[in-house]
Amino acid sequence: LATVSCPRCHQSVDSQAVTCPHCRTTLKAFGHPGIPLHRATGKEYLCDSCTYHADDSCNFPQRPYAKECTLYQNIEESKLQLQQQRENTSLTATVKSWVKRNSSLLLLLSLVLVCLLIALLSS
Ligand code: SF4
Ligand SMILES: [Zn+2]
Repeated sequence: LATVSCPRCHQSVDSQAVTCPHCRTTLKAFGHPGIPLHRATGKEYLCDSCTYHADDSCNFPQRPYAKECTLYQNIEESKLQLQQQRENTSLTATVKSWVKRNSSLLLLLSLVLVCLLIALLSS
């Protein structure tokens, strides 16, 4: 059984636990990776730069004034990730549409290859 250390009270906790049994810190939410405890540096609240505040999916009672949070997800980072995902999908889309547009060319090339092979084998 895998255990992790609670970011607040540092007791060992089952890695699947949603809340720490010792200090009740929320460690993760369904579908979200959890555990590292994010702390606000300076006067800003974490929620101000959090994805789950921006998309209104957070139902934590400390929102929007969280100074520390285990679910915090930096919005700039997730924007970057999204952008990368989009770039990746647009690249595969380009390759796919090229294959589609040039499928007759590819077919012709493979036929030529087969003919060459037959010619080589029968000579
Ligand atoms: S997950 Fe935490 S930091 Fe993000 S909005 Fe909710 S309380 Fe604020
Ligand atoms: Zn704890």
